Amino acid sequence: MVRVAVVDKDSCKPTKCGKPCRKYCPIVRIGQEAIYFAEGEAPPTINEYLCSGCCICVKKCPFNAISVVNLPDELEKKVFHRYGVNAFKLYGFPALSPGAVTGILGENGIGKSTVLKIIGGLIKPNLGRVEEEVSVDEVLTSLRGNVSFSLVEKIFKNKAKCIYKPQYLDEIPRLIGDKKVGEVLEKVDERGVFKEAVEKLDLGNVLENKVNALSGGELQRLAIAAAFMRKGDVYLFDEPSSFLDVRQRLKVADLITSLKEDNKIVAVVEHDLTLLDYLADYVVIMYGQPSVYGIVSQVLSARVGINSYLDGYIRQENIRFRKDEIKFHAHAPVEEAFNVKMFEWPSIEVSLGGFSLKAEGGSIGVGEVIGIAGPNGIGKTTMLKELLKYFTGNQSVSEGDLVRKIGYKPQYVSGLFTGVVGDLLKEAYGGDIPEMLESELIKPLKLDRLSDRLAETLSGGELQAFAIAAALLRDSPIYFLDEPCAYLDVEQRLVIIRAIRHTVMSKKVSAFVVEHDIAALDFFSDRIILVQGEPSIQGYASKPMRVVEGMNSLLSYLDVTLRREPENLRPRINKKGSKTDRLQRAQSKYYY
Ligand code: SF4
Ligand code: SF4
Repeated sequence: MVRVAVVDKDSCKPTKCGKPCRKYCPIVRIGQEAIYFAEGEAPPTINEYLCSGCCICVKKCPFNAISVVNLPDELEKKVFHRYGVNAFKLYGFPALSPGAVTGILGENGIGKSTVLKIIGGLIKPNLGRVEEEVSVDEVLTSLRGNVSFSLVEKIFKNKAKCIYKPQYLDEIPRLIGDKKVGEVLEKVDERGVFKEAVEKLDLGNVLENKVNALSGGELQRLAIAAAFMRKGDVYLFDEPSSFLDVRQRLKVADLITSLKEDNKIVAVVEHDLTLLDYLADYVVIMYGQPSVYGIVSQVLSARVGINSYLDGYIRQENIRFRKDEIKFHAHAPVEEAFNVKMFEWPSIEVSLGGFSLKAEGGSIGVGEVIGIAGPNGIGKTTMLKELLKYFTGNQSVSEGDLVRKIGYKPQYVSGLFTGVVGDLLKEAYGGDIPEMLESELIKPLKLDRLSDRLAETLSGGELQAFAIAAALLRDSPIYFLDEPCAYLDVEQRLVIIRAIRHTVMSKKVSAFVVEHDIAALDFFSDRIILVQGEPSIQGYASKPMRVVEGMNSLLSYLDVTLRREPENLRPRINKKGSKTDRLQRAQSKYYY
């Protein structure tokens, strides 16, 4: 077995812990320096050759700063990159075929961004030899037989131009915030596709707007349009669906897939499985231990890859990388199943500037989750806030105060939390968090590793995970959750979906949840409020409908039909005009 030991330098606090990692190491006790401290107060170094992999230091470290895993020897032949001594290790490299879209699927922190950075030429792979200069020929030799050989060769020789749509877009307004959208796009239009991109991504009405005035969804579409318009050999899209509604996601998917027609290499990192299934030809799975090591699987067809990911088992490699399989369910909720009402609201009419929302009255039952669905800019968040207003008795309370008072996760959470993550989570729960919640919510969301960090220093994804956990930990008769799955990976989404359901059932409370991920919406909703209308002008929110009715109405509005994958019941988008699509439309069965 080979040891991989990773020390998280941000979490390690040698001045505060008494260095138990070294004190209790059995190898150090017999006189060999398996773990040692250099001069000063730097984090420890673990010598992986001397280390026995007993994990005593892992358990003794009070700040969860050490991870040690034992991996099979033969895997060492596949090391492709390591960030440094006792740092993240990447095994393998995805096979990316020209003329196809390859989806890269895996948890956050498993190395997907490392792969994208290597393709983008931002990282030169070192085959794990962190203290040596590794030659280009050696790297290429390690890729013999991989479809990506010629791609990597071209990258090294600066003969491949890579276009990258980043995951986080916060930098864009900072860099070009004072420029107009139209101006920015005209400048990058190397392929002469300005009109097509603007039309397909509905950017026509914001061309005169400044970049720093765009919403999250508009910024995402701008970034995708800019990538699409540039001339490249390889196109990389890191989470293109964030902040987009279902209809926009499908349009983005069509635009991305059109790139493969010119025999380009297209790679997409995406956590919305329904969308990934729709746009990818192939999928590679990345598995391992987040922030410690990641292994790239062989290339699989999109259907097989996504099913394998949900199974937690790659049959082609005989690898089980997750204990439990993920299964969806086809529930058939019974109307009026929630006899005990938690809260009732009257019909609502509200005007905000040029936008107006009309909503039908309704009620939510004890133990019920109502999903709120519909396109962007049509009043879903306004609807949630109006419900919140009725619930809190119309008090004018700031978002920052509300998130500390009730189970509320707003759409945008930046700047709402200050303080140490662990303390804020305890404060939300009202004391020490019980072991069950630690293992079912905090650890799967990787918040245990962030407990000493300041909330204001968290990244976008970390902050979202923290905000949703804080909302669910708080005692609240009703939870108001706006896009709880945004920025989360597939596994984290599942944790959140289960936590929402578990919270409402066990605490006998209720939840309103705004969500764009169709699979998630279907999974947690007992009933659905559908919001329709004209974006930025007017919206109409229905009364809560049964899931069957709500999903069918939503999908008919989006003009797509869905079927279920027999193996795991996950939703799949039907090809327009296919036999199944035509049959379902004829029966008005857009999904159920
Ligand atoms: S790794 Fe943990 S136990 Fe060791 S010095 Fe760092 S914080 Fe202390
Ligand atoms: S895993 Fe065990 S042998 Fe290795 S450094 Fe930690 S305590 Fe020492």
